[in-house]
Amino acid sequence: ERLANQIAAGEVVERPASVVKELVENAIDAKASQIDILIEEAGLKKIQIVDNGEGISQDDVENAFKRHATSKIHNRDDLFRIRTLGFRGEALPSIASVSELTLETATADEPQGSYLFLKGGKIEEHRATALRTGTKITVENLFFNTPARLKYVKSLQTELSNIGDIVNRMALSHPNIAFRLVHDGHKMMTTSGSGDLKQTVAGIYGVATAKKMLKVEANDLDFTLQGYISLPEVTRASRNYLSVIINGRYIKNYALNKAIIQGYQSKLMVGRFPIAVLEITMDPLLVDVNVHPTKQEVRLSKEKELMDLISRAIAESLRQINL
Ligand code: ADP
Ligand code: MG
Repeated sequence: ERLANQIAAGEVVERPASVVKELVENAIDAKASQIDILIEEAGLKKIQIVDNGEGISQDDVENAFKRHATSKIHNRDDLFRIRTLGFRGEALPSIASVSELTLETATADEPQGSYLFLKGGKIEEHRATALRTGTKITVENLFFNTPARLKYVKSLQTELSNIGDIVNRMALSHPNIAFRLVHDGHKMMTTSGSGDLKQTVAGIYGVATAKKMLKVEANDLDFTLQGYISLPEVTRASRNYLSVIINGRYIKNYALNKAIIQGYQSKLMVGRFPIAVLEITMDPLLVDVNVHPTKQEVRLSKEKELMDLISRAIAESLRQINL
């Protein structure tokens, strides 16, 4: 069982940023409205996530560390109906198996919360504790028992920028949640949780940049699309500033990024890329999220149609500014 967890960890937990992603997704699934992420040494020393979500009840807390014990997939149809971000019941056991993990959690309707400490996936301490409703998970000394994995970790700077990217994207896909990211005591970003996408964009890329972004809107029978694209004067030299969110989930899809760039560059210079945030709503049946364990890659049933809609909507927004 513990070996299975370490092997699964290889898929789910490749680097500090993937730990952050999984833990933040859990906080989102728990309906938190405030998520604080505190990082030390790019996550290798410490990753701490504090949320004000529903918490885990005393009876369930040990189960959360058993593989698939919490899987929400019971049959093939369930795969198409996934509403929550987590659904494999694999992240917590995997992360715990390659770190020292402390969990403090409490629900609203129980008088006491739980404190759990695990080392290498083994529960070393489990006791009751007082805590306000919510969950605090602290992951220390990541990969201490899997030196091979440590070798794959890049420079602290690279790992930190991966963490920043992930948190930015989580924040962009959840404008109604207030995020705060702190690294070695320095505040890296905060969002207000007001629910307004433009304010969230401002929290991440800065108020001045957000002012130089145009609204993008379109819809057809299958898709509703809304978001923002930067004016030509605030282009970037890489594609790292393209964020596509489908049904509340940040996704990676080469074709959709290409569609954004096509819509943008039809009017503009080559080799420069926009900052873009697109929220797309569609029937969940048109998205297959089960392509990869980290769940970022998706397969779309009507990809070509969506690409066209995106390119046209962006070209249309830019046309209005009379280039
Ligand atoms: P999954 O998210 O796929 O269900 P995880 O291993 O990520 O599996 O988490 C296991 C379970 O632990 C979740 O299903 C959830 O019930 C509980 N859990 C984890 N993190 C939190 C949290 N921050 N708040 C409330 N419950 C949590
Ligand atoms: Mg999860």
